[in-house]
Amino acid sequence: MRDDYDVIVIGAGPAGSAAAAAASARGLTVLVMEEHAEIGQPLACAEGLSRSTIKGYLEIRPEWISQGLSGSIIRGPDGREFTMEYPEVGWILDRKVFDPALAKIAESKGATIKKSTKAIGIEKNEVIVKENGKGMSYFFKYLIGADGVVSKVGRWMGLDTRMKPSEIEICAEYRLKNINVKSGYAYLIFGNEYAPGGYAWIFPKSMNSANVGLGISPLRTKEKPKTLLDRWVEKEFPDAKIEERIFGAVPAKTLKTFSGNNFCLVGDAARFTDPLSGGGIANGIKSGAIAGRNAADIIRGRKNNLQAEMRAAVLDEVVWHKRVQDVYSKLDDRDLQKIFDIGERIFRGKTVTDINTQHLVRQILLASPHLLGLGFRLLL
Ligand SMILES: Cc1cc2nc3c(=O)[nH]c(=O)nc-3n(C[C@H](O)[C@H](O)[C@H](O)COP(=O)(O)OP(=O)(O)OC[C@H]3O[C@@H](n4cnc5c(N)ncnc54)[C@H](O)[C@@H]3O)c2cc1C
Repeated sequence: MRDDYDVIVIGAGPAGSAAAAAASARGLTVLVMEEHAEIGQPLACAEGLSRSTIKGYLEIRPEWISQGLSGSIIRGPDGREFTMEYPEVGWILDRKVFDPALAKIAESKGATIKKSTKAIGIEKNEVIVKENGKGMSYFFKYLIGADGVVSKVGRWMGLDTRMKPSEIEICAEYRLKNINVKSGYAYLIFGNEYAPGGYAWIFPKSMNSANVGLGISPLRTKEKPKTLLDRWVEKEFPDAKIEERIFGAVPAKTLKTFSGNNFCLVGDAARFTDPLSGGGIANGIKSGAIAGRNAADIIRGRKNNLQAEMRAAVLDEVVWHKRVQDVYSKLDDRDLQKIFDIGERIFRGKTVTDINTQHLVRQILLASPHLLGLGFRLLL
């Protein structure tokens, strides 16, 4: 007997679970397949999430949070720091709790979740899988590819999702214990010593533990992110104990198209990760929810809002931030120091309640004629 679903979601990360919850809530039959035995493991993430990016899509529950944040500590290439107070700006999550909880929400709306089930190919409207090592297949009317940065679904459905070196940030991160940090603040660190073409972070999980990592542009250095991270950690946290080592990549790319007649990509699979911050949890959840709630109309051949909603909630900002990132990733320490100095003048001693990146980029460019040439493209 054929195993048929209205919607099949490949991947049970935040994007896949959000898609499954939204499609199930519309009365569709939904199957989510996840290749790993545990949802949320293994994990490649620093777990930062800002409140403004997720507003209207998800209420964050206390049990999902490792640490609440009330601002950032910004460090420039010359080693100076300033604190930006931003009350209740966001959280450092515990994704080993968060990701399974999102999957449980999808299940509570009616979705079926199959773990240890890896999609290995697609033929017409059939997903071929290895389920607990056994060959199986499932049929769909609509397919949602939520299989993360390593996504194959896009390629299987005929899209070019490959990333050039200029369209990717490569990352190394350690979960450190036995350190001292200001726990309510996310540290953002700029300069080529730490992260050429990207930035480094200390995202505290508590006063004594943090996700400490960096993302770099492979075009800017031949050194591996691990080498840069080891050098930094040894210098800044000589007594730290490494609890976990994470290596991964973040897309900084925009696809020509993220969907077809009977399918849609969401989250990292659609390259919806914010190219500037490298954050992908919020856009994963938003894009998943949008794909899931439009699936019923698409299946029934009715007018739907997939493209317009995705553009407004996710894509327009990703495209804008990609343009900024293209310029940012080429800056040298002299430029970064200037930006740091401007940022310090704008933010030091002030309590921030909102950051508009377009406004900020304008302020930086106008305050620094040296950067204007580089930024000309952006402003236009
Ligand atoms: C070092 C690092 C730090 C980061 N820090 C942050 C941060 O602080 N904040 C932030 O917002 N983002 C961060 N990100 C990005 C963030 O982790 C991702 O954007 C986010 O997880 C994307 O969610 P997703 O659901 O699209 O994909 P994922 O969370 O990657 O989920 C995809 C799922 O699909 C499954 N899967 C893949 N292929 C198959 C298959 N063939 N069959 C079945 N299942 C499959 C995977 O096992 C996985 O569970 C970071 C990334 C890295 C690498």
